[in-house]
Amino acid sequence: MTADQRAPLRYIAATGVVAVVSTLWFAGWQITGIGPAAVSFVSLPMGAAITAAAAFDLLRRAPLSKPARRFWRAMLLAFAGVAIGYAILAAAGFRDTSILPVMPTAAAVFAGIGFLAAMWAMGRVPLGIGSAGERWRQLLDRAIAFLGGSTVLFHFGLAPMISGNQIWSTQALVLLGLSFTLAVGGITKVSYIRGGPIDRTALRLIGLMGSVGAAVALLMVLGGDQGTIPAQAVAMPIAPVLGTLAVYRQWRFTGAAARRANTWLPYLAVVAVDVPLIAVIPGALTWTDKLVIVASVLVTGLVTVRQFVVFRENARLLREKRASEERLQHEATHDGLTGLANRALFRRRLGEQLERGGATVLLVDLDDFKTVNDSLGHDVGDDLLMAVASVLRESTGADGLPVRLGGDEFAVLISEPTVLGETLAQRILDAFAGPLSTHRLLVHASIGIATAPAGTTLDRLLRDADVAMYAAKQRGKANWVRYHDGMEQPVADHAQLGGELLRALDAGEFTVHYQPIVALHTGRIVGVEALARWMHPTRGTVSPAEFIPAAESTGLIVPLGRFVLREACRQAAAWLAEFGPDALQKFGPNVSARQLHDPDFVTDVQAALAESGLPADRLVLELTESAVLRGQQVSRALYQLHELGVRMALDDFGTGESSLSLLRSFPAAIIKLDKSFVDGIELDEPGSPEADARQAVARAVMQLALALGLDTVAEGIENRAQVDRLLELGYSLGQGYHLARPMPAEAMTRLLADQRDFASA
Ligand code: C2E
Ligand code: CA
Ligand code: CA
Repeated sequence: MTADQRAPLRYIAATGVVAVVSTLWFAGWQITGIGPAAVSFVSLPMGAAITAAAAFDLLRRAPLSKPARRFWRAMLLAFAGVAIGYAILAAAGFRDTSILPVMPTAAAVFAGIGFLAAMWAMGRVPLGIGSAGERWRQLLDRAIAFLGGSTVLFHFGLAPMISGNQIWSTQALVLLGLSFTLAVGGITKVSYIRGGPIDRTALRLIGLMGSVGAAVALLMVLGGDQGTIPAQAVAMPIAPVLGTLAVYRQWRFTGAAARRANTWLPYLAVVAVDVPLIAVIPGALTWTDKLVIVASVLVTGLVTVRQFVVFRENARLLREKRASEERLQHEATHDGLTGLANRALFRRRLGEQLERGGATVLLVDLDDFKTVNDSLGHDVGDDLLMAVASVLRESTGADGLPVRLGGDEFAVLISEPTVLGETLAQRILDAFAGPLSTHRLLVHASIGIATAPAGTTLDRLLRDADVAMYAAKQRGKANWVRYHDGMEQPVADHAQLGGELLRALDAGEFTVHYQPIVALHTGRIVGVEALARWMHPTRGTVSPAEFIPAAESTGLIVPLGRFVLREACRQAAAWLAEFGPDALQKFGPNVSARQLHDPDFVTDVQAALAESGLPADRLVLELTESAVLRGQQVSRALYQLHELGVRMALDDFGTGESSLSLLRSFPAAIIKLDKSFVDGIELDEPGSPEADARQAVARAVMQLALALGLDTVAEGIENRAQVDRLLELGYSLGQGYHLARPMPAEAMTRLLADQRDFASA
């Protein structure tokens, strides 16, 4: 507790001391009868002055909202008014030693101002009501409660004083009336306050201060003259204690949760009114009068019981409604399978966070989930998704909200600002390292991270994260990538290109070019590699380096590859028919990983062979290592192709990671030494480590091919020196601009014709 929070405790102590001392004085006075009775009038103005000081201190030092400040300023006026008014009364008491001093008008005016200020303050406390209907209901409720409460107090308190034989000054009666009103009004009002800027307990305590006034009145009525002194000395000083307690509560107030307003108060009031009614029965005039009173008491009692029953029923219905609303709410905001938050809740939370400040989002996409689902069934897929959900839940912990966006797409919204997206992403990837679910499956995830400053639109941030996730997938999966400006450019190009590819495929803008594969020592053409070309109507010939990646990412590589395969087979069969079966040995179209995954691929190859009549052993499919490495589906396809008699070439050999081990399991017939190992192979700079390494690879690949009985083709030969060098190393077949560039079919036909003529000449 800070010094500031301790401060109000001193005021409570001070009013407490006044109350105790005053009570002790009364006890002493009762026994001994020594001293002027007017001392009893001193404690209330003293206590009220301390309370006023407390309120002043509160206003000066505590951070208060505007309505709270208004309230406590009025209360300060109230305490001060009462302090001054009763000080004047006490002074009068010392002058006029009769037991009950007549209240001077000045005293009554000050005290009256005090009471009115308190009532005004209470009246202005905001209730926090919603609809107009609710406002009217509450107004009625409070009117009922107020009338009921004041009737009881009037009957037992004020009425006997007015009609009694004791002479009460008008001023005293007015003040008592005001304190009754404050008590009843305060309590009914407080019952309807749902929270707001003023501490509820403080308000209750102030309402109770009014009740002290009411208790004093009762004491005086019951005790007559004897009641006055204990009322003033013992009961009155309690009010300032309550006042300082109220100040203390407000000082420590930190804001209140909304609570339900009381709904039973009016019925209590209705029943309360019955009490004075019953009390007047013995004095009522005729038996018919009594009958009427008894009947009305019974009716109000029964109506109240009935209301109570309805009230309970309503409360139960409300509870049930709230429970079912909560259930619906949960269903609307959570994913049914995994129990994670769903897209709707994610978007709402993210929107809220973006309004308040920045936000970091992780998009988590499972790699190859579709394969699991397709090959092992949906139940296994569901189990896997649930396992993934719990991995996300555990890795995220209290740092954020894990979400299932749908399918195999997940996300995490980081809520803990000190946690870095990278840290969490790595934690998630690490958790994916081991096998998951009861089926012990190995899955990996690609994660895109994006952080946005406040004010960024939600969709912008999600798009950034999506771009980053896409980049992570491009980088070989099981990876995370953080978004940076400009990252979307290639992706946007891809998307645009993808759209155009589809159109181009329909429009027949693709053709196939052929690059000869040449026997290095004779220069004879022994085969061709088929390469796709895009004859763009405005852009001219577009390089495969540009459109192949877009075709792969959009899946269009499948129909495009099918076209190249067919066209190559058709052309190859035509050349064989024209130039004889020995003219060419190999026809090599390129096949991408995506095509190998296509369940129809083997059928497509069979169809292409059947349609063209090309013997299967002339077809050489060029595959890259990474394409071959992918899963069971691929192995099965490769095996079936092998069974058909189709040969396979490992393209770009040496650039991948597992070339050696791959050769043992993969039915390859040909190794294509990648251009990067041919580049500069002719340069003999002793001591140049790169040149040495290149030659070492070329030499090792040759030894490997010999050992395994595989053919080799050296790619990208650009000069005569390279041919010589490769021949020395044992390579007999090559391909490259120096030997022949890729060319249209007609050019290739002429070249083959020349070769035939040359051979026969
Ligand atoms: P790749 O399979 O390694 O094909 C060889 C590439 O090297 C071709 O480029 C060819 O024109 C080029 N090349 C041949 N000799 C030389 C040389 O001496 N020097 C240089 N600098 N380059 C040479 P291209 O036609 O641009 O194709 C690029 C890549 O696109 C191919 O690499 C292949 O991976 C892919 N590709 C082409 N057509 C298809 C296709 O129909 N399907 C699939 N899946 N991929 C294809
Ligand atoms: Ca190739
Ligand atoms: Ca190649």
